[in-house]
Amino acid sequence: MKLILASQNAHKAEEFASAVTAVSILPAPGSVEVDENADSFIGNARLKARAYAGHFHINAIADDSGLCVDHLNGAPGIHSARYGRLAPDADMDPDKTAANNRKLLKNMAGVPESERGAHFTCALCLVILEQEDIDYIRARMSSLDPGIYEIRFYDAEGREVKPDADSIARVEVAFEAYAYGRILNAAHGTGGFGYDPLFYCPEAGCTFADLTQQQKLSVSHRGRAIGLLRALFERD
Ligand code: IMP
Repeated sequence: MKLILASQNAHKAEEFASAVTAVSILPAPGSVEVDENADSFIGNARLKARAYAGHFHINAIADDSGLCVDHLNGAPGIHSARYGRLAPDADMDPDKTAANNRKLLKNMAGVPESERGAHFTCALCLVILEQEDIDYIRARMSSLDPGIYEIRFYDAEGREVKPDADSIARVEVAFEAYAYGRILNAAHGTGGFGYDPLFYCPEAGCTFADLTQQQKLSVSHRGRAIGLLRALFERD
């Protein structure tokens, strides 16, 4: 199966492609403007994958991720990239990350350790248009846990239909994975990106920013979501 990644981030495409070799995940041939206005990570991943698949008429995959802090009722959540309220496209800009992290530290000031729980979420959505790939997912369905993989079938008019319908024009497979930890009082570590220096991962015994990229993938929300993606294409 071939999928284009609904993102202009070449680094992400490489990360996905190297982790999941059973499918070809390629950078999108161009960018598509997507209004990410859903109220969930999966909803936004779905909007992106639909927009790219619809525009380029090819299978697409999209991700959406962020940090949810218990004490802040799940904030920054789907607004993680813009929490500090600076340029929305400045994801790799250290100043924007600094602004996000400053705001998080400020909002968590004085909160006791027992109430500093948080988790990262990574949602993935595949929009599949190719008939043989649609058939593959149909055949694979019975061995996929419905509690993890949300699979929807649509006809050519965009109406949701049953998996055994005569004519299926599109399949959407969506799922998410998590990494649980807590927010520190001060940054630690120099690796990773975004909120990594403030996120202590008990499983690793350090922050995400203390880990190498490979180590982080073994415990992170993204690494786990990639594991679920790999499992989707593992034949038993
Ligand atoms: P996106 O899914 O690439 O749009 O990421 C949304 C935002 O969530 C990023 O800009 C980061 O602020 C945050 N985020 C997502 N994943 C991570 C992570 O692994 N470490 C730190 N921050 C993350």
